[in-house]
Amino acid sequence: TRVRPSSKRCAVIGGSGFLGRHLVEKLADKGYTVSVFDIRQSYELPGVTFYLGDLCDKQALLPALRDVSLVFHCASPAPGADDRALFERVNISGTRTVIQACHEAGVQKLVLTSSASVVFEGTDIKNGKEDLPYAKKPIDFYTLTKIQQEKLVLEACDKENGFLTVAIRPHGIFGPRDPQLVPILVDTARRGKMKFIIGNGSNLVDFTYVENVVHGHVLAAERLRPESPICGQAYHITNDEPVFF
Ligand code: NAD
Repeated sequence: TRVRPSSKRCAVIGGSGFLGRHLVEKLADKGYTVSVFDIRQSYELPGVTFYLGDLCDKQALLPALRDVSLVFHCASPAPGADDRALFERVNISGTRTVIQACHEAGVQKLVLTSSASVVFEGTDIKNGKEDLPYAKKPIDFYTLTKIQQEKLVLEACDKENGFLTVAIRPHGIFGPRDPQLVPILVDTARRGKMKFIIGNGSNLVDFTYVENVVHGHVLAAERLRPESPICGQAYHITNDEPVFF
């Protein structure tokens, strides 16, 4: 009989990234032993082991998932990459590979970082709930592949075989070491390009502080049990009020 992996061992795929690193730090703080799987190593932390490789390569992934009961998948090419083939390879086929690797390694829980843009059709949504349908016309290839990725992960939820999944959908994430959102806003403002308003200035955009996004991931992971209603579900994660942009 196989020894059950310890519930305090987890892996973070994409753990070198902005969100991933915050998540790894929180998990290490909470006493988890963490394996990071990423194509790059961006820092060092006691109790955290790095495994370098491409998530599309199952053989590279497996050592990072050994003896791990819980996996967070928060790796993706950057949204601005404008490379359809890359998004499809990493977010769709790569996610299939992650699920297969989880099965082979005996992982019991998979928490996916999805995106609130999976329900965005180009018009403002206020107080949108999780029962909104997936966008029929996603705004870009990144979002198209995030939709496919989320479906793959949620459909893989299989209580009978002890494999439980959940997805967290943040929108814009901000906080320390944010490489994109705030630096790009500040840079655009410095270059004098914030003087133009698209629309009438009442467009809504949702930003969430990175610690809240991390908290959502940890809660989802810890509540993910066979009897839990969160199995196979997606959850929006936000601060309280949307921001006018
Ligand atoms: P990030 O670019 O900082 O981190 C992503 C990490 O994934 C990087 O470390 C990168 O090296 C790694 N990665 C990319 N391709 C890989 C591959 N093929 N194999 C292994 N590792 C790979 O991005 P982030 O902002 O931390 O985003 C994390 C997750 O959150 C992503 O799934 C993204 O879609 C989602 N998300 C982010 C935001 C945001 O505002 N930042 C909003 C909504 C959803």
